[in-house]
Amino acid sequence: MSERNIPYKIYLEENEMPKAWYNLRADMKNKPAPLLNPGTLKPMTADELRPVFCDELIKQELDDTTAFFEIPEEIRNFYKMYRPSPLVRAYCLEEKLQTPAKIYYKFEGNNTSGSHKLNSAIAQAYYAKKQGLKGVTTETGAGQWGTALSMACSYFDLDCKVYMVKVSYEQKPFRREVMRTYGASVTPSPSAETEVGKRILEKHPGTTGSLGCAISEAVEKATTTEGYRYVLGSVLNQVLLHQSVIGLEAKAALDKYDIKADIIIGCAGGGSNLGGLIAPFMGEKLRGENDYRIIAVEPASCPSFTRGKYAYDFCDTGMVCPLAKMYTLGSDFIPAPNHAGGLRYHGMSSTLSQLYDDGLMEAVSVQQTDVFKAAEYFARVEGILPAPESSHAIRVAIDEALKCKETGEEKTIVFGLTGTGYFDMVAYQKFHDGEMENYIPSDAEIAESLSKLPVVE
Ligand SMILES: *Cc1c(COP(=O)(O)O)cnc(C)c1O
Repeated sequence: MSERNIPYKIYLEENEMPKAWYNLRADMKNKPAPLLNPGTLKPMTADELRPVFCDELIKQELDDTTAFFEIPEEIRNFYKMYRPSPLVRAYCLEEKLQTPAKIYYKFEGNNTSGSHKLNSAIAQAYYAKKQGLKGVTTETGAGQWGTALSMACSYFDLDCKVYMVKVSYEQKPFRREVMRTYGASVTPSPSAETEVGKRILEKHPGTTGSLGCAISEAVEKATTTEGYRYVLGSVLNQVLLHQSVIGLEAKAALDKYDIKADIIIGCAGGGSNLGGLIAPFMGEKLRGENDYRIIAVEPASCPSFTRGKYAYDFCDTGMVCPLAKMYTLGSDFIPAPNHAGGLRYHGMSSTLSQLYDDGLMEAVSVQQTDVFKAAEYFARVEGILPAPESSHAIRVAIDEALKCKETGEEKTIVFGLTGTGYFDMVAYQKFHDGEMENYIPSDAEIAESLSKLPVVE
């Protein structure tokens, strides 16, 4: 019996927490396309990645065949502070909607960082520490990833340098101060600390920054500072691997009560929470053991899946990172200001991109005001104040439940509630004051940024 055929349950602890992460790529017939060296256009080797990423994480990144990776005990001990996370039956929501559908959500907001990002942050900090590094660098947009990484680094006594998109640095002082509370140093990006930052400042004086630009700065800092490596909170295969704890726990809880999900829904920024939530379910689907409808939800203002192109593209603005094949809007695409900051990345995980291209999952885009209507509805009936990102999944879960009401079908819907929205009250305020706008990029705008995709023969 090959390793992947062993029931995942042997990898569960008595408290139903996973002892191993599940690598969905092992069960994919069409593997996600490899990262390419932007100079040679050849697949990146482990040696080429070593100056940027931690050794153990590179192994996880490049491994398409090992189905299970044991979770080191130190990481499992940290997970125990806030895991297993609750899988909640949304009885009040079902009743309010008068739907025959059964709705469940897996809630990842029960930790100080307020989102699922801590699941991967703690793993990445652990491997950096084990390698004897002094610290790590990263970027953060809205601030959730930077917050999670600061917590993880302080736990393992690692230095943490965060480049925070300038506009968020100025508009989200509370996130910034949480990071500093956990000992991280936070620099507004673009900065004069790096060559790429200086170049961008010269070309665009007064710019308020972007995620792609902050990534370039963080990578440069890591590769030019002794004892540092760069870490990333989404998109990469290793991040999806760590986030599989979400799906493994959800599956264990559903199996325990003999519940079979019909529809699984998650919001998609870079794809890590969705990739983690669906992992064991998609694994069953790929092996022909079960079928599920899987739906990715993205903002209409940044529609990588629904309007992007499946092609190799740069991961960052400064073009210092490897090329990734993904559904992308072009690395030049600057989404309109949107309150779901965590969903504003121009590309999508290459694993999810391949699954979507193979027709194994669906994607829909939703407008901002519809998302906040769903967020407020959910807060009032279920009590949890959701993050704007998570509320994209709530919107579509409600829409699917309402369809069941029309057809009378008793479907079981599971969605990922990735985090809380306490740091997003300015967005809620705009919504309440009727000042929130919907923005949909024009075809011409998207075509323009796609015209600059790198040429990969
Ligand atoms: C970052 C973030 C997301 C989106 O990131 P993915 O990698 O697509 O999961 C979703 N929800 C919350 C609360 C986030 O912080």
